[in-house]
Amino acid sequence: MPSNYILVGERTVSGKKAVVIGAGFGGLAAATLLAKKGFDVTVLEKNEQAGGRARVYCEKGFVFDMGPSWYLMPEAFEKFFAEFDKKPSDLYRLKRLDPMYRVFYGPGDYLDIVSDLGRNMELFSSLEKDGYSKLKGYLAQAKYKYDTAMEEFIYREYKSIFDFFSPKLISKGFSLHLFDRLDSFVKGFFSNERLIKILEYTMVFLGSDPRNTPALYSIMSHVDLKLGVWYPEEGIGAVVSAMLSLAESYGVKFCFNSEVEKIVVEKGVAREVLSKKGSFEADFVVVNSDYPFSEARFLEPKYQTYPPKYWKKKVIGPSAFIIYIGLNKRLSGLVHHNLFFAPDWFKHFDSIFKKPEWPEDPSYYVSCPSKTDSTVAPEGCENLFILVPVASGLEDSDEKREDYYDGVVSHLEGLLGETIRDSVVVKRIYSHRDFYRDYNSYQGNALGLAHTLFQTAYFRPKHKSRKVRNLYYVGHYTHPGVGVPMSIISSQIVADELLKDGT
Ligand SMILES: Cc1cc2nc3c(=O)[nH]c(=O)nc-3n(C[C@H](O)[C@H](O)[C@H](O)COP(=O)(O)OP(=O)(O)OC[C@H]3O[C@@H](n4cnc5c(N)ncnc54)[C@H](O)[C@@H]3O)c2cc1C
Repeated sequence: MPSNYILVGERTVSGKKAVVIGAGFGGLAAATLLAKKGFDVTVLEKNEQAGGRARVYCEKGFVFDMGPSWYLMPEAFEKFFAEFDKKPSDLYRLKRLDPMYRVFYGPGDYLDIVSDLGRNMELFSSLEKDGYSKLKGYLAQAKYKYDTAMEEFIYREYKSIFDFFSPKLISKGFSLHLFDRLDSFVKGFFSNERLIKILEYTMVFLGSDPRNTPALYSIMSHVDLKLGVWYPEEGIGAVVSAMLSLAESYGVKFCFNSEVEKIVVEKGVAREVLSKKGSFEADFVVVNSDYPFSEARFLEPKYQTYPPKYWKKKVIGPSAFIIYIGLNKRLSGLVHHNLFFAPDWFKHFDSIFKKPEWPEDPSYYVSCPSKTDSTVAPEGCENLFILVPVASGLEDSDEKREDYYDGVVSHLEGLLGETIRDSVVVKRIYSHRDFYRDYNSYQGNALGLAHTLFQTAYFRPKHKSRKVRNLYYVGHYTHPGVGVPMSIISSQIVADELLKDGT
């Protein structure tokens, strides 16, 4: 056997060349899994740093996670790192947040969700008759769904519709409430509006509207209320750095500032990837960059599995209006994660999914990681990340941004009874046009594809091209979907499939 052949179980993998396009979580994870199996892996990334939507922005001693800030489903990270005989604790320090998050309903009017489930149950009892036992029942079904989904639905490829609508999965599908809607499902348990919002807000993590999301996703309440909200010291950026170092330790080569322009396909086989930094021969290509953009830009129409008209019919996830603020003082009213739920919150969901427009009285999220991490802001200062989910494809002008900034920040000042605008030392607004410019994001979306029933599992865009034999797609557009853990899991599915094809 030639010396560059590596034994993998019964099979052999040569040092075949795999080119990964994009160094988001999906691309980083796929690259490392393939390198471990013996592929010669090169990652071509458009931007100057890894992480994709999870990049880091530093200014004047403030360190901002630009995208994700909730570290959820720790088990998914453990499973990924176990592939390399590592634990997350070998690579970064995690702590469980307590309180996990604060929910504001109006000025000075808030509830804290803590890491002690018993106390959350008491809180539910204080607001709803039998709230304790109702939450217990709700979480029991969420745990059943989570366990079943992790064992049978999530870590797998769906090649044919019969994989999805198999008798086994259909029978499970009913007990998993795949065919019910989350909003009516939650309302079957609870009538208190405040509690309903606590059980539904997690749909925003999935880029979805609770009225149009399968009740299967009540698993998200198991994820936050039972499994907990975690924080890697120095932020999500520390996880990106750990994954980058791990990839490099397996020999993955990274080319930053290397925007890909074309995949050269001959007779249905990808041969070469052309980037602004040169061309790269490939035996396999894994695309992590946004699916709609990548197919349209890199491939001739005959090689596109999903032509542009396919995406027009899809429910695109929200974009985000984000403000990164460095404050030269501390705020007393915030904890690490804070959510404001507007009284009429379905009006906000309608402005995203039904009648796209800038929401007038939005719900929003404020992360203040300097509450628990002294490395993300200078001493005596506060690091704020404010996010309003908004419809993708909206006009995003300078005037609108400033207007919106004023509206949201003055609302937050009212909520906290503290001034903010007079103490801002760093201010950066990030929205549609930045998502488009930085990530080639379709309609400037932040969260890829929403999780409707017909955009779940088998119905999500495929990991493997139907038109090009050695071309794969990884990341949040594909199964299992949106979020850092999901993007990492998609890489495990892709690596398995590619390995089956490549050996
Ligand atoms: C504001 C925000 C908040 C979020 N909050 C959370 C959270 O709290 N918790 C959570 O789990 N998830 C959260 N998410 C979702 C999560 O960040 C994403 O689902 C996940 O990071 C997607 O990873 P990915 O690898 O699929 O894609 P991406 O991160 O988008 O990576 C794709 C990569 O491809 C690169 N690329 C694009 N075009 C090209 C090209 N032509 N050539 C080369 N490279 C290219 C991009 O630069 C990028 O690096 C959030 C997302 C956003 C935007």
